[in-house]
Amino acid sequence: MDSPDSGGGMARMEFNPARLALAGAARRYGRAALDVLLPPQCMSCSAAVDAPGALCAACWSKIAFIAAPVCACCGLPFEVDAGPETLCGACLAKRPRYRRARAAFRYDAESRRLVLMFKHADRLDPAPTFGRWLALAGAGLLADADVIAPIPLHRWRLLWRRYNQSAELARAVGRHSGKAVVPDLVVRHRRTPSQADLNARERRLNVAGAFSVNPRHRAAVRDKTVLLIDDVLTTGATVEACARTLLRAGAAAVDVLTLARVVRPQVRMP
Ligand SMILES: [Zn+2]
Ligand SMILES: [Zn+2]
Repeated sequence: MDSPDSGGGMARMEFNPARLALAGAARRYGRAALDVLLPPQCMSCSAAVDAPGALCAACWSKIAFIAAPVCACCGLPFEVDAGPETLCGACLAKRPRYRRARAAFRYDAESRRLVLMFKHADRLDPAPTFGRWLALAGAGLLADADVIAPIPLHRWRLLWRRYNQSAELARAVGRHSGKAVVPDLVVRHRRTPSQADLNARERRLNVAGAFSVNPRHRAAVRDKTVLLIDDVLTTGATVEACARTLLRAGAAAVDVLTLARVVRPQVRMP
């Protein structure tokens, strides 16, 4: 994978009450006003950058981008290169339903802030940058994809959050790849409690049977390779449930591309 560029300068802004007031006004009057009144800020800290949705060089250097070698199936990064077809212990023990998963960076204290900001802070300006990173991390998956679809949110949660961050990521990846994006390909017809405090088994049970393929898009799934997009791959329970649903509906294969991925220490394979 190429090095994703930070696309930003380094000058750090001091705390400035006037700037905060302006930002408040711009939130009320719209993004265009913000861009006119204030230079764009790093999406993680307050440093000035060249364009909205960029990271300053200091923040960018702290993001642990994932590069080969990785598990051929789940994309877990390896410390030692044992060949392109090598599988991690977990995938050797039980192969996931999806074919391949890849992620742009590790989910850690640094990147968590970025992901949560995108998820909960009502900020869409990082979407183009995230789309570029996803397109780099998932170049091999995108080449094989027939259709791109986000992991869906239940509509109540969608109303609460106002947008589905995975759908925004899917659209951004679609713009980079020219592949078709179908935001409502998979629907979540059961509201599932948040996965945050659940262990792997509980997560699996929590999402079992929660998804179905939108009847309007059955033809878009049959014999097709579907690329699922989500923000974070944790235990993989959600993408597994979605992949199972898509394969039952006749998909030829399901790949998974996420912004971040939890990397737990595990026994290294020979
Ligand atoms: Zn920064
Ligand atoms: Zn694996």
